[in-house]
Amino acid sequence: MNSHPDSELLISFIWLLTLIAGIAWGFMVRPLRIAPKASARFFFANLSLGSGIYLLSLQSTANNFLRWFIADLAILTSFMLIGWGIQQLFKFRATTSRDSSVLLLTALLMLVTHLYQPDTVVLGILFSVTATLFLYSASSTNFRAIQKDFGKVAACLMSAPLFVVTLIFFARTLILLWPETKADAFVATYTAEAVPLLWCYVVLTLTINIVMIGGALARLVAKIRQFAERDQLTGLWNRRAVLKKLQEMHELWQKQQQSYSLILLDLDHFKRINDSLGHDAGDAALRRCATTLSAVVRTQDLVSRYGGEEFLLLFPGVTAVELPLIAEKIRTTLAGCQLIWHNIPIELSASLGYVTVYPGAKAEHLLTLADKAMYQAKAEGRNRACLANPQ
Ligand code: GH3
Ligand code: MG
Ligand code: MG
Repeated sequence: MNSHPDSELLISFIWLLTLIAGIAWGFMVRPLRIAPKASARFFFANLSLGSGIYLLSLQSTANNFLRWFIADLAILTSFMLIGWGIQQLFKFRATTSRDSSVLLLTALLMLVTHLYQPDTVVLGILFSVTATLFLYSASSTNFRAIQKDFGKVAACLMSAPLFVVTLIFFARTLILLWPETKADAFVATYTAEAVPLLWCYVVLTLTINIVMIGGALARLVAKIRQFAERDQLTGLWNRRAVLKKLQEMHELWQKQQQSYSLILLDLDHFKRINDSLGHDAGDAALRRCATTLSAVVRTQDLVSRYGGEEFLLLFPGVTAVELPLIAEKIRTTLAGCQLIWHNIPIELSASLGYVTVYPGAKAEHLLTLADKAMYQAKAEGRNRACLANPQ
């Protein structure tokens, strides 16, 4: 059978693409070391896809089952590796054993089919079903990961290519199940009928690599954001981030008169914990305080580590009437929580200063007022909450 010129050209093109993409991912692994573990999986995915397609392209003269079998497995392995790369990139639970079992089962079924009743359609169906499964798993992981950090729209855009390719393989399964399909011609790679599938591989190679690079960038941006906005010890918002949020809340108050309140709290005699039990005990106490505060406020409230053992809490929509109750609840919750450090109980308590925005107030001024009120609480004996005096 003569090979179709379009299919030959497309195969060379795919080869070139996988080679260039493979080299690029290789650079990501070393020397760049950008997401090296995930990049290594994408490197091998390209290598595997390229090898599979190369083996398929050698089929133009003889119908060699072994070559075809290895080629199919190489392509399926590349889809599996794409999924694993995405899982690694976004720290999702690995599905290594599940996927390996599916691949093994597919290989076994292909062998059994070949030995007992050789049928290219059945082999094509087995290949397409497994490809659909692997690609669907990769696309849904990608979608969930991007959605978490960047929202639904970004997730849809960045997962669309993978979903489309999944659909194409699903459609191929259905076409092969259709009794009138010219199966032999459709399953081979060198015929005119295979040209759409080869185009599919071109699009797959290009878009998936673009999606993966987008994924690696997204992960990098999320990490940078994490470093820029979060406190490394407690995971709470840091001072810089909370001051930005405070400005935003203040602008909302100026534009729409939406009230907000803030509480500044400082742990009592914190130095004693460090001095008597060590710095690690102090760190554990700070983390406990962070989880306690996060648990006691509403989801829309903001808890930040403002300084060493000082925490600033912002309460959008909370008025001067509600605030004293909230401050008291926080004080009692903290005073009631006990941390056991190497069998030694550590008692926590805090002094709080609180204030609600009022006409003519500036955000920085509110902070100064809350700070003064907090020091008043210290002066009055600690473990208490004081209302700031705007005068
Ligand atoms: P007061 O009741 O007056 O607030 O007394 P205090 O001991 O809490 O206050 P002080 O300001 O004297 O001490 C705060 C201590 O917090 C000093 C500093 O070593 C400690 N600290 C600041 N940041 C950290 C941290 O990240 N980890 C640990 N373990 N300690 C910290
Ligand atoms: Mg203190
Ligand atoms: Mg302090």
